[in-house]
Amino acid sequence: MTITFDNSWARDLPGTYLRVPPDPAPAPRLLMLNRPLAADLGLTLTDDQARDWFSGASLPPGADPIAQAYAGHQFGGFSPQLGDGRAHLLGEVVTPDGRRFDIQLKGSGKTPFSRGGDGKAAIGPMLREVLVSEFMAAMDVPTTRALAVVATGQEIWRETKLPGAVLARVAASHLRVGTFQFFAARGEQDKVKALADHAIARHYPDLASAENPYLAFLDAVITRQAALIARWMGLGFIHGVMNTDNMAISGETIDYGPCAFMEAYAPGTVFSSIDHQGRYAYANQPLILGWNLARLAETLVPLLDPSQEKAIEIANDRLSGIAPRYRADWLAVMRRKLGLLGEDPGDASLADDLLPAMQGADWTLTFRRLADVTALRPLFPDFTAMEAWLPRWRARAGDGAAERLSQANPAVIPRNHKVEDALTAATSGDMAPFQALLSAIRAPFTETEPYMLPAPTGFGQYVTYCGT
Ligand code: AMP
Ligand code: MG
Repeated sequence: MTITFDNSWARDLPGTYLRVPPDPAPAPRLLMLNRPLAADLGLTLTDDQARDWFSGASLPPGADPIAQAYAGHQFGGFSPQLGDGRAHLLGEVVTPDGRRFDIQLKGSGKTPFSRGGDGKAAIGPMLREVLVSEFMAAMDVPTTRALAVVATGQEIWRETKLPGAVLARVAASHLRVGTFQFFAARGEQDKVKALADHAIARHYPDLASAENPYLAFLDAVITRQAALIARWMGLGFIHGVMNTDNMAISGETIDYGPCAFMEAYAPGTVFSSIDHQGRYAYANQPLILGWNLARLAETLVPLLDPSQEKAIEIANDRLSGIAPRYRADWLAVMRRKLGLLGEDPGDASLADDLLPAMQGADWTLTFRRLADVTALRPLFPDFTAMEAWLPRWRARAGDGAAERLSQANPAVIPRNHKVEDALTAATSGDMAPFQALLSAIRAPFTETEPYMLPAPTGFGQYVTYCGT
């Protein structure tokens, strides 16, 4: 079996990338192949093909490896040139039912965008991306997917020597807010327009015939991103680096670096070692949503209206709609999590008032256990406020709530201590804990006891890292 590529980016967007081959892995070893995903893409691969093609050991026929250019605001400061510093887009595939996906290697060697980096990745962080993105997919949250992870047989240096790996990632595209910024910052407005046209054709084809396609495009990205962040919030997901280069125009979650799931609810939760100010803390993510989309809107201003003044006015009008749009999406997420049917004017305050009452309680299990006070109480350091809130919820939720709670709220999430155990074992050659955890998180509504429990006391403050 070969992969049939159709590389529209390389074909249609010259000047937005550099052609550069991945490094050949010296001794590749297949650690995981996502067979269900391969089947969904219409690919039947042998293990040997996956090992060689997804490690850079050899190139599949038709691949045209490129590194894409992009810029980005990182923690609020603009970096005019980032780009794929350790990734190679092999090309695009079209599924039997007509969906187009990128296949990209990550950790596959240096490119002209590498700056000081080594272009590599370690086994642990690549398997971590597998676990978190497979969970997102299992929860129907839009996400890039992990197709394979191959150990390269090469050691890399981080704080210590670690075994290297390459992740093969599948995405609706790797077009980012930061891609638009790269060209807007250089005054290459023709490229911004070409990117917008590509994005519309690829991700929002219905908008091509809109009266103002670029405005409709901005609206559509706002809509998808607001819905996405609302889903993250419902799961207690903290992305960790919501830089504009890590926000995908397709509306998929992308770039699983120092991300993690909050266990005990605390709105200021941060896991990333470098996020000292809490810019990307749990409760800040909806604000960063608006901030990042404002950066996208800035790049589109010249396309929105011939009059710059008018264009800015239009853009600002759309940006002011983000907060209410997000709030409505969040409320819809919370209604589901709370097992509420229909809509009631009191729902917003019911959801809002739960949060302070939940301080310190396990985010995931609280929702699953709401209808069972005996199981709920031990999750709380202080149950007083909950005691007052629960009767309001019971009155509103009514019959059948327990059933709805267990359909809406996962029993299993990739808990930090379980993820760490799995990655530590995998790094020293034992894939069994990773396999077991992956199976559990792929069936998140199944109560799989060892994977449901919060971290044991003594696990401590969890810290995650970028660029690993
Ligand atoms: P990230 O934090 O993964 O979104 O990456 C931000 C930027 O740093 C991107 O341009 C990456 O390509 C680049 N980068 C991250 N790690 C490495 C590495 N080990 N070598 C080269 N570039 C890297
Ligand atoms: Mg990134």
